[in-house]
Amino acid sequence: MRVFFDGGVVVEGRGFKVLVDPFRPFREAEYDAVLLTHGHSDHVTRHVRRAFAVLTRETLQVLLVRYGVRPRRYALVRPGDRLDLGKFYLHVLNAGHVPGSVMYVLESREGTVGLTGDFNPAGSNVVGGADAVEADVLVMEATYGSRQYVFPPRERLYGEIAALADRGDAPVAIRAGPLGKGQEMARLLPSRRLYLEPRIAALNRALGFPGGRELARGVRPGPGEAVVLGLTSRPPPGSLVVELSGHYAVAKPERGVGIPLSNHADFPALLETALRSRAKRIYTVYGHVDELARWLNRLGLRASRIPPRGQTELTQWL
Ligand SMILES: [Zn+2]
Repeated sequence: MRVFFDGGVVVEGRGFKVLVDPFRPFREAEYDAVLLTHGHSDHVTRHVRRAFAVLTRETLQVLLVRYGVRPRRYALVRPGDRLDLGKFYLHVLNAGHVPGSVMYVLESREGTVGLTGDFNPAGSNVVGGADAVEADVLVMEATYGSRQYVFPPRERLYGEIAALADRGDAPVAIRAGPLGKGQEMARLLPSRRLYLEPRIAALNRALGFPGGRELARGVRPGPGEAVVLGLTSRPPPGSLVVELSGHYAVAKPERGVGIPLSNHADFPALLETALRSRAKRIYTVYGHVDELARWLNRLGLRASRIPPRGQTELTQWL
C-alpha cells in the first residue's frame, strides 16, 4: 500500500486506488473512487463531476451551490456508515469541522488507513465533536500543527462575539469562512438583527440554517445589527470589523478585532488524536506538516509529511 500526495491524498493498494479531497483537475480514469471529506475549496474541485464520488448530502449541497455541479456517479454517506466498495471498505466518521464534514477509515486486506481531512474534536454549535479515529496508517491534517496554537473554550469565544454584536454604537461586520462559521453565526446571533451576505445566505438555505436575513443590495446594517461576510468581502463603512480565524490565537488583524474561533483541532488536540489513533505510521498534510511531524516523533510515533507522487515508500507497517 502506498500513500502520497498528488493534488489530493492518494491511497493505492493491491487492485485499487482512491483520491481524497482533490483540489485541482485529475484523471478520473485512474481512480476507483474520489472521497470528499467536506466542501471547503481547498478540498474539492468542480472536476469531481466526472468521477465516482463518495460524499455526504451536505457536501453535495455545497458542490451544487458553489459550483453548480453534481458528480456523474456518487454514493451519499453519513457518520456511522460502512460502505463496501469491492476491493476495500470505507468506514465513515464524524469530523466535527463544518456541516457535513466526515473522516474515512479505508479498510483492505493490507490494513487500515485513516483519513482525517480537516477535523475538530471540540465541534461547534452546528456539528458534534470529531469521532476518535484508529488505523494502522493515519493521514492527518496539520493546519494548526504548531505549538503556539491553543484555542480558548468555544463557549467563551461565542460569548465574546455575541457581546461585540450587541454593541449599540456601530454595526458589526463579522468576516469568516462561509462554510462552517456562516452557519455558526446564524445559530449564535439574534436572527432579527443579523444579515448575511448573499452567498452565505444561499449556503445556509441549502444546508437548512434559517437564522438571519440576506443582505439586499443598498441595505446598510445599522448600530446594534451585524452582518456576516466572507473573509475577502468589504465591510460596510463605519462598521466594527470582527474577524474569526484560528490564526488570531497568535496574530492580530490589520484592523478591528480578531477572535480565534477555529473549526480545526488545535495543537494539543492534534497530538492527542495522533496518540489515540495507535497508528504505526503517520503522514501529516496541510499547514505545519514538518513541525507537527517533529513533535509526533518526539512522542515516539513514526511521522513525516506526506510524500509527493514519485517519492513514495512502500509502507513498512505490514
Ligand atoms: Zn476545511
